[in-house]
Amino acid sequence: MKKPEHQDEIISLIDDYLSRLFFLCRSITGNQNRQTLKILQEVIPLTIVEVPTGTKSYDWTVPQEWNIQDAYISNKFGKKIVEFSKNNLHVVSYSTPVNSTLSWAELKPHLHYHPVLADAIPYRTSYYQKNWGFCLTQNQYALLQKDGGPFRVVIDSTLHDGSLTFGELLLPGRSKQEILLSCYICHPSMANDSLSGVLLCAFLARSLMKTKDRYYSYRIVFVPETIGAIVYCAKNEKAMKSIDTGLVITTVGGPGKFGYKKSYESNHCINRLIEEVFFEKKTNFITYPFDIHGSDERQYSSLGFRINTGTITRDKYYEYAQYHSSLDDLAFVNASHIYEALTIYKELINKLDSRKIYKSTNFNCEVMLSKHGLYPTTGGAQNPTFNGRSELDIILWILFLSDGRKSVDDISLEIGVDSCVITALSEKLSLKGALQIV
Ligand code: ZN
Repeated sequence: MKKPEHQDEIISLIDDYLSRLFFLCRSITGNQNRQTLKILQEVIPLTIVEVPTGTKSYDWTVPQEWNIQDAYISNKFGKKIVEFSKNNLHVVSYSTPVNSTLSWAELKPHLHYHPVLADAIPYRTSYYQKNWGFCLTQNQYALLQKDGGPFRVVIDSTLHDGSLTFGELLLPGRSKQEILLSCYICHPSMANDSLSGVLLCAFLARSLMKTKDRYYSYRIVFVPETIGAIVYCAKNEKAMKSIDTGLVITTVGGPGKFGYKKSYESNHCINRLIEEVFFEKKTNFITYPFDIHGSDERQYSSLGFRINTGTITRDKYYEYAQYHSSLDDLAFVNASHIYEALTIYKELINKLDSRKIYKSTNFNCEVMLSKHGLYPTTGGAQNPTFNGRSELDIILWILFLSDGRKSVDDISLEIGVDSCVITALSEKLSLKGALQIV
């Protein structure tokens, strides 16, 4: 494939993939998820992994695989009123097969319409409760109600012992320490949630592959939300438990304001770095506090893993009217919006990858400074030099805070001393053997 140099070429590529991937009927399992990952293999060399039905993953079990060919509701004259072939959101995801003639009273409990947006088809799922249903516009619901039935109801779907499919790409860096980038591939025809995130993640990975001399290693995963992230954690437990920082990438393609959801530790460096990028790019943004509702940060930040996982968004899930409906479409999302978000993510990765982190070589009590020639030979008053602090004072704080997780910039922020000063003193401490670079 030709390597585009220009932003216009990348936007046009993202646009092509948006229209190719939008119409696939993805779910938490199934052939259309495989197809999605195969198409993404044109962008990055994803490894596709299949996890069989019945596989236990902590408190969860991989469900049966779901596929669907067709579905419709027609009236007594054979006129189709609701058709899956026109929009895959018309069928509740994971609907069991149906082929029956039903009265209005029998059909009604299986119908869902959007409570606010009259023209929208809502997105509904029933993964773990065996059920079936149709989603329709308020107008279609009124038509069925007026018609009164009986109705021919067909859902040509299958549930069988198959597998759950996910994609992963591991990009090694100079350090074995990994950064997690994750997106979810389980949503059918909606563009902002989650296709925009899937494409951003793929193009971010593509750009990382071209970055020479990466410091961190990157673990990039494309999983169905919740069950996929849980299965992924279970299958890669050791690696996932050693990750400190991650990003869940979703809802980045709308026309609205940028925002970011904080990771579970509010003062973690990922949050500060995201804000720095917004400030430097003079981009207004909304800050959303960490919340247990949301996406796969819930799994990645759970007690056993505790990965600080942030999310930069543009029209964040829950926050836009078209959310989880057919109006989250290619009129709402476009490739230029995704590209703009991609530049923010790329800048964040640049910052993350280039920050310096030191770790004290003496975790048990303090370093004997005089032994290393770091203590002033004559005791007494220390003259304040940096922002009201003496060099000795700053050295003590650096040694106190260099836990192998806090970067030079974190320490600078925490004690209110310029990061150049912290960098210079950390290098000095490193030469004396009191710190080592992580
Ligand atoms: Zn969603």
